[in-house]
Amino acid sequence: MRRRVYLAIAAVGLVGCAWQVATGAGTTVETRFAFPLLAVFLLSAVVVLVFRPARIRYVELGGYLTVATVWLTTMAVQLATIEDDDAAYASLYPGVFANLCLLILLAYLWFDTRWALPASLVSPVAALVIGLARFLPAESSRDLAAEFVGALGYVVVLSMLAFLMARSKEALAVTRAEAARLRELAHTDVLTGLPNRRSLVDRLELAVHGRRADGPTGVVLFDLDRFKAVNDRYGHDVGDLVLQEVARVTAGALRPDAVVGRWGGEEFLVLVPRADLAAGSAIAERLRRDIAAHPFPGGLSMTASFGVSVVTDADSVEAVVLRADRLLYVAKEAGRDAVASRFPVPRPGADDVSDPSPAR
Ligand code: GH3
Ligand code: MG
Ligand code: MG
Repeated sequence: MRRRVYLAIAAVGLVGCAWQVATGAGTTVETRFAFPLLAVFLLSAVVVLVFRPARIRYVELGGYLTVATVWLTTMAVQLATIEDDDAAYASLYPGVFANLCLLILLAYLWFDTRWALPASLVSPVAALVIGLARFLPAESSRDLAAEFVGALGYVVVLSMLAFLMARSKEALAVTRAEAARLRELAHTDVLTGLPNRRSLVDRLELAVHGRRADGPTGVVLFDLDRFKAVNDRYGHDVGDLVLQEVARVTAGALRPDAVVGRWGGEEFLVLVPRADLAAGSAIAERLRRDIAAHPFPGGLSMTASFGVSVVTDADSVEAVVLRADRLLYVAKEAGRDAVASRFPVPRPGADDVSDPSPAR
């Protein structure tokens, strides 16, 4: 993008230089020195941009130095060679003043803000010295000296305003980066690095509200079996390692558009876009097998129980998670290391297991 913009500017600049030289529209020093030199720089810039695009930084530095050198030299030559004071002063407009302003923009565009302020002030200060040397000594041109200082004052004010603008843009960028970092932290589980419950709820909200447009979203909730025993027997640190490993194994086993997060404790929730109950169950079954087959730290074996649900019409986040949670309980009741996606049909006389209390 940057390269294309520079190439466009170089093309326009080359046409402009050619036109100025051909028509002799500017002053002699502009026609004989400034525009030919600018044209040489612009041609070199085009060559670098086309054949060595990685060297774009040199084009920027070269551009800054060329514009500064060309216009300060032009100014000095014009002031030294044009005898009439008013004509000498008038020759600075618009070329020299326009390019002093351009140099400020280039300084802020191409240097750090810290360096841009001095870089953007060097040219006006040099111009001030050259101008005062020309207009101050003679009594007759003192009023032109004052006018010149005033005109340069505008250039300096422009530089200061550019500095303030650059600083506030930097501050805004820092604030945005910090806000993004905090948002990231607020949505990440510290232990596993997975999306946390808050993040999962946000995604579930999106799935519930975008259901019609995006098709069904499979929701798989799973809970490690007898995890408390791992903590009790091997300590909390090993328990933590197991949780991290489960996170890694699960995240690695999912297709790219699916998301696994830590719902809480040793419970994880998987969201699978465009997955109906059958597809969600197949994913849960694969995860169940992967976890059961995985060698955990210290040679531990783990299993998990899964409840599979799907976001349906007029669902709410609470309702879909509650369904998955109750099915997870069904899987636990069925002996653990299992996947449940449907409630068992209650047998006459038996306890109703379709609405068990999720007292895990
Ligand atoms: P079940 O098969 O019925 O799920 O049995 P369980 O032992 O897994 O279930 P229970 O709810 O009794 O135990 C869950 C344990 O998970 C208890 C708690 O100490 C542990 N736990 C929760 N969060 C963490 C954690 O961040 N790190 C560790 N190491 N343990 C945790
Ligand atoms: Mg458990
Ligand atoms: Mg649990």
